[in-house]
Amino acid sequence: MIVWFRRDLRLYDNPALCRAVEDGGRVVPVYIFAPEEDEPWPPGAASRWWLHHSLAALDSDLRRLKSRLLVFRGDSLSVLMMLCRQSGDAAVYWNRLYEPAAHARDARVAKALETIGIATRSFPGHLLREPGEVLSGAGTPYRIFTPYSRASLRLGPPSPALGSIGPNRLALPNDRDDGLESLQLGTNMSGQAHLARHWRPGENEAWRRTISFIESRAADYGEARDRPGIEGTSRLSPHLHFGEISPRSLWHAVTGQLASDGRDDSGLAYLRQLLWRDFAHQLLFHFPHISESAFKPAFNELPWRDDPEIVAAWQSGTTGIPLIDAGMRELRSTGFMHNRARMNAASFLTKNAGIHWLVGARWFWDTLVDADLANNTLGWQWVAGSGPDAAPYFRIFNPVTQGQRFDPRGVYVRRWIPALNGLPDKWIHSPWTADEETLARAGVRLEEDYPEPVLDLKESRRRALAAYGRYVAGR
Ligand code: FAD
Repeated sequence: MIVWFRRDLRLYDNPALCRAVEDGGRVVPVYIFAPEEDEPWPPGAASRWWLHHSLAALDSDLRRLKSRLLVFRGDSLSVLMMLCRQSGDAAVYWNRLYEPAAHARDARVAKALETIGIATRSFPGHLLREPGEVLSGAGTPYRIFTPYSRASLRLGPPSPALGSIGPNRLALPNDRDDGLESLQLGTNMSGQAHLARHWRPGENEAWRRTISFIESRAADYGEARDRPGIEGTSRLSPHLHFGEISPRSLWHAVTGQLASDGRDDSGLAYLRQLLWRDFAHQLLFHFPHISESAFKPAFNELPWRDDPEIVAAWQSGTTGIPLIDAGMRELRSTGFMHNRARMNAASFLTKNAGIHWLVGARWFWDTLVDADLANNTLGWQWVAGSGPDAAPYFRIFNPVTQGQRFDPRGVYVRRWIPALNGLPDKWIHSPWTADEETLARAGVRLEEDYPEPVLDLKESRRRALAAYGRYVAGR
């Protein structure tokens, strides 16, 4: 029996693996790297780095159970057929994915295997609720988060996690494979060396982070989640993306601990984020075009600007707007960006600079360790105003007031832009407004140590509102 691992790189609460073990017989764990099958969104550089280490971690966990992960590079269907033929296995099990390309590929693979007498079984395990489980009274997909989340919560808590497979339930496969190195996920590894300083991919680390979050930060999550200067969130997004922990394990771990401490509310704030993740996936599933074009068609017609200089300044964290630059530098240094900074960085690029949201979405896709097609698409379309449940077009984040509100002491800005460290709090989010004397006392030379803003926030906001108003309002 082949268990085809994809983005479920875990042993605990892995439905396909558990069922294969229960059904008895020889279980062969397989991973096939087929980036062409994810086109037009094959994994970016940071994702490849993560995948390499996550596969190595899964292999080492399997070896502890006296098995191992067979790794292949190639077309998924051909590899699965070859393995079934070679080993005489007559069944392939997997956990379902919902992105348009993966979903279509899986349907093709299932049909082709069944045609030649190989049984296939697929299982839910990547989300709390599968697309189609939470529908409106009219049987249509929800487009707005709040009613979606209420309807999902009405279904009750997710079913309990399945636990882990016991010892001596797997055997060592002796089949030949291509091996992890053949995937060449590490060809650009030196370019990704910074990621290793901040992340350790794999199921063990996913659980370590979960426990540390529950014990020390979950209680304050509702308050702390919006402050980029403190580690108030779980930072589990890459682990969830690669399926190193299941969302329902996380749900039960959080609710169990908080209920036992009599602290339910902040748990709910956290559970809402897991529901946002489900919501994003069901949107992309039901409206597969939205990773490429605006949910609201009027936004495709906006006169998006082409400005390579601004894009380069945005990417390198040198726009001269501290909150934006801190976020983009955090991304460059760690492969991650706080959600508050993501919203501001996306608003600056799409609204102030008038650059198409896909330009930003693609940069995030390549550089984020948690790059996730459903969440990234929703995030960008939400900020750009073009999504189904989106910030209205006239909501343009002001990165100065956002900084003053969510990073009042400038902790986040000072961490990522040390050149501004000496500035008093009052000017930390708008150094260009400080007088000469303040700048001199702080040891900040504008343009030399830190740039002047690449655009005027007020003027660009006015221009964006006019453009949006002309093309979008009233449609
Ligand atoms: P926590 O606050 O601890 O939340 C727990 C989990 O809930 C997260 O790990 C994530 O899986 C989920 N979650 C939280 N917020 C959201 C959200 N707004 N939408 C969907 N799921 C959410 N998230 C990604 O996982 N991958 C992306 O590629 C991505 N791109 C984004 C792009 C933009 C422009 C924006 C505004 C947001 C994006 N997000 C993305 C959502 C969010 O920023 C991250 O999920 C979050 O910052 C991850 O940090 P955390 O694990 O500490 O989150």
